[in-house]
Amino acid sequence: MSATHITRMIDLATYVSRLREAEAFHGHLCAGMYTGVKMALYAQTLLSLPAYPDRDLIVVAEIDRCLTDAVMSVTGCRVGRRTMKIRDWGRFAASFVRLPDGQGVRLAQRDGTYSQIAARLTAAGIDLHDRDQAAPVFLAFPLEEHFAVRPVTIAFGPDDIPGKPKSKVNCASCGETVMDGRHLMIDGRPLCRPCHLGMDAPGPSEGSFNRPI
Ligand SMILES: [Zn+2]
Ligand SMILES: [Zn+2]
Repeated sequence: MSATHITRMIDLATYVSRLREAEAFHGHLCAGMYTGVKMALYAQTLLSLPAYPDRDLIVVAEIDRCLTDAVMSVTGCRVGRRTMKIRDWGRFAASFVRLPDGQGVRLAQRDGTYSQIAARLTAAGIDLHDRDQAAPVFLAFPLEEHFAVRPVTIAFGPDDIPGKPKSKVNCASCGETVMDGRHLMIDGRPLCRPCHLGMDAPGPSEGSFNRPI
């Protein structure tokens, strides 16, 4: 199947309508909305889903930026429903995985694609914030050139899936309840991770520890 053919599988009216919803959810219209909405609609096509299923699909996003809000808007996957996981690795990518069998696809924006789209917008004199004008330009960029796609299998365990918590323990140090097996057993005592690490407040993102001060 040619890239052009697949591009036509995302209908412009659907794309514009999902963009409008994503903009309302996210708070503004930006490059991440155009990219994330297109990515989520492409994943839907690749997984042959007529619509995103409730609770039977888990998305693992690899960035805590605009793209992830766009994917949440289109798919209905939510952090609080345990259908959206964020592994903040700073990559413009997300995996869309069917819960029953753990099979899915990982889509990542290819390097340099946004600058090519931005150049097309500039050449046509189109403002990024003009949804009706900019959407056809984003959509016309062939899907297979825009996103790298590969199959993934993610075996989500009972402590990661939607539904009631399978485990609740009290931390032996602070006494707070720790759900979903997120505690550590140290010398036979359950400890929450902050107590084990000697932290009394959440720390910064893992990646930011690597920055030179
Ligand atoms: Zn944004
Ligand atoms: Zn604790």
